[in-house]
Amino acid sequence: MATWTLGEVTVTRIEEQLGFASRPPEQYLDGFEREMLAQHLDWLVPDHYSPEDDRLITSIHSWLIRTSRHTILLDSCAGNHKDRPGFPRLHQLATPFLQRLRRAGVKPEQIDIVLCTHLHADHVGWNTKLKDGQWVPTFPNAKYLFSRTENEIGDPRRNPAAEANLLRGRAYCDSVLPVIEARQAVLIEGDHAIDDSMTVVPAPGHTQGHVAMWLANAGGRALFCGDVLHHALQIHAPYWNSKFCELPDVARATRRKLMEQCAERRALLFPAHFGAPHVACIRAGAAGFSLQFVAPDTH
Ligand SMILES: [Zn+2]
Repeated sequence: MATWTLGEVTVTRIEEQLGFASRPPEQYLDGFEREMLAQHLDWLVPDHYSPEDDRLITSIHSWLIRTSRHTILLDSCAGNHKDRPGFPRLHQLATPFLQRLRRAGVKPEQIDIVLCTHLHADHVGWNTKLKDGQWVPTFPNAKYLFSRTENEIGDPRRNPAAEANLLRGRAYCDSVLPVIEARQAVLIEGDHAIDDSMTVVPAPGHTQGHVAMWLANAGGRALFCGDVLHHALQIHAPYWNSKFCELPDVARATRRKLMEQCAERRALLFPAHFGAPHVACIRAGAAGFSLQFVAPDTH
């Protein structure tokens, strides 16, 4: 199990799935350029791109963050048994995600905070599980932090457009609403401090209410950027959006700002979908941004 350590905090990757992006590169990244892919093939193959299949490789995972005070699950993947017609990679899954969490030493009851960077289907799935035909919170003792803006946009009862949005409507009904009805949701706005070392900040663009989280302590800094970046090659082409970014211009501006801050602060970047080794540092130079992957601790 891959773990990174920052001072007294450990961050462990809990994998749900690692594999091909659902569509060819041109249909996955808006503005995708073949020349950029060709220039970077030396490090993209085999963990980030498969030339045989012409598919980018992406991961769906959660970050398990353990501090002396909190056990946090950041983003909760696609979940099991969820109906997601049109999205084969998210539809009716049966993955051993909770067994992997247990193998990392954590039972569902021990999670005290779940943070969803946004309410798309691949970030909320394990919020709930099926029990006697009902969706119930998977983490019975957790507060679930959701952006208030995301909650307003995602709720088909308040925003009829969410019903038709394949990444939102169903996911809201089976993976967000049951948490709200169980009174385990906390709706956050603006900057939200979890404690002295962790702050959730607005990072709009991929979705209007998307958030990111900064961690800072004596051991260093980290940025959990959710879907501000989808693929490692975007570090070299920050003007590419994913095809799922809802506010394209805002998404580009937020990506650039967070990448600059990440470079200035020498923060470790923990994205939601990068291929192995999943974590990187960003450098800002005269020729633009570049990245250096950071391997997990070896035990
Ligand atoms: Zn995502």
